[in-house]
Amino acid sequence: MPSGVSSITAPHVVVAGAGPVGCVAAAVLAGADVRVTLIEASPSPPRELRASTFHPATLEMLRPYGVVDEMIARGLVARHFAYRDRHVGVVARFDLDELRDITNYPFRLQCEQFKLCEILLEKFVSNPLIDVRFSSAIEAVEQRSEGAAAVLTSGETIEADAVIGADGASSAVRKSLGCTFDGMTYADRYLVVSTPYELSDHMPDLSYVNYVSDPDEWMVLLRTVDLWRALFPVSDDETDGQALSDESAERRLQGVVAKPTAYEVAHRAIYRVHQRVADRFRVGRAVLVGDAAHVNNPLGGMGMNGGVHDAVLLAGGLAGLLHGTVTDQQFDGYAALRRQLALDFVQRHTHENAVTLATPDASIRAEALEQMIERAANVDTAYDYLLQASMIKAVWAMETELRAIDAYPFG
Ligand SMILES: Cc1cc2nc3c(=O)[nH]c(=O)nc-3n(C[C@H](O)[C@H](O)[C@H](O)COP(=O)(O)OP(=O)(O)OC[C@H]3O[C@@H](n4cnc5c(N)ncnc54)[C@H](O)[C@@H]3O)c2cc1C
Repeated sequence: MPSGVSSITAPHVVVAGAGPVGCVAAAVLAGADVRVTLIEASPSPPRELRASTFHPATLEMLRPYGVVDEMIARGLVARHFAYRDRHVGVVARFDLDELRDITNYPFRLQCEQFKLCEILLEKFVSNPLIDVRFSSAIEAVEQRSEGAAAVLTSGETIEADAVIGADGASSAVRKSLGCTFDGMTYADRYLVVSTPYELSDHMPDLSYVNYVSDPDEWMVLLRTVDLWRALFPVSDDETDGQALSDESAERRLQGVVAKPTAYEVAHRAIYRVHQRVADRFRVGRAVLVGDAAHVNNPLGGMGMNGGVHDAVLLAGGLAGLLHGTVTDQQFDGYAALRRQLALDFVQRHTHENAVTLATPDASIRAEALEQMIERAANVDTAYDYLLQASMIKAVWAMETELRAIDAYPFG
């Protein structure tokens, strides 16, 4: 039990969703002597293959919660990420080790998001402040004069001091609060196909993270511990069923590395991709974090990472509000700041990546790739780009703003 607060007198927060962001929010709250009821709609921890990259800034934020060493043990350390031309090979390569003086983690950690959930959920079992309930979904949130209540689809109502919506892109919490979710949807869907075939034996200088440009079919190639994951665009000419077929996976993978035998495909999925941000991240005693608050394209791997940053600041700020160490106005500032950072950093950077790789206009794409090559070739611009891509710049901006409003909560 954390320092001197009994589980009976501790404030109580309901967290909707045991995805990576909800699990981190629960860990932050419990670490700050707040009781948590973590409600998850699925019957068991979701194992969907989605985010697989943790940036240095996120690993730094997770450090106090004792999970990073195990994540590193279960993941892959990716020192480099590269931009490639499909026919020429590597055109720009960035070395995260350049950041070794300012972070303990000068690399991207390739580790599937479900592993973070598993590690945290395992810890929650022995934490008396956290009650995890699977097969239980939140339908609505009701504001109270001194708190909020979570109404479950079963009809049960849980009274609490606050509710955090970490229930993903289709968030019931967000809808119940009446928040808008404005933005845009990309024309192309994205297809992810994973294979155990060792692509790096056949593609010289393949990094663990590669953005591959091509006039006909761009792609992203990512290594996880067991698999290579290839992400391809899917245009309107193909239905979901056609894109997910064996023939499509085989054709696309043969286009990456041609081989005489058929590919083993371990997993495949298709997604529609959006850039959207909720109009508010705080409504009374309810807070939105992660995909419930903002979604973006996965190029650059910032959705979950940004969500973890939300969880650390907003769950930590909420704990302060409930303990009386953060004012209502300061907490409003935290929520507004996380929203602004979602717009100014995450949405901007990921959309820039989409333009570099995927915009239909070949001349815009070529110009963007040329800029990336120039950026990598110059020590100062490469370093500046590393700060941005590793999300360290976004965290520095957050810290500067928090100090400006005299509400810096970290040490
Ligand atoms: C192909 C792909 C690749 C990606 N790669 C990256 C990457 O490398 N890096 C990165 O940062 N991001 C990446 N992302 C984005 C990332 O997966 C999401 O941003 C991340 O999952 C958001 O986490 P979350 O916890 O907010 O939401 P989710 O992971 O969606 O979790 C929400 C949870 O809430 C539960 N739930 C839903 N409704 C309810 C309810 N009403 N009541 C209770 N529980 C509920 C769900 O079952 C789920 O467990 C990728 C996404 C895709 C599609």
